[in-house]
Amino acid sequence: MHEISLVQGLLDQLRELASENGAKRVVRVKVAIGPFSGVVVDSFVFGFKVLAPNSDFARDAVLQIERPLPSYRCKDCGWTVPDTEMRPESCPSCGGDGLFPVGGDELLLMQVEME
Ligand SMILES: [Zn+2]
Repeated sequence: MHEISLVQGLLDQLRELASENGAKRVVRVKVAIGPFSGVVVDSFVFGFKVLAPNSDFARDAVLQIERPLPSYRCKDCGWTVPDTEMRPESCPSCGGDGLFPVGGDELLLMQVEME
């Protein structure tokens, strides 16, 4: 389960941010996990629940997950179908079926609330 090491990385990042800002603890953290990031959200949340209480600075931190949707771009005409859950069957512009995903592979620290 590589989510555990991802959570560990997140906590390291949070610790650094907290000390840079002279904050004692992290109250809330928002993370964006794209559908193609290879991250299993449930495992990530579970990992956070396991690891965060072991840290003094993120013990009570609330984890918020955002799931950005990918866009699909047509390789024939360049048309982009924005933010869609399902891969479109064909390009709405030229009818071609060469649509490939753009984005959606992100694992991003979006927002941190500290005090
Ligand atoms: Zn097209």
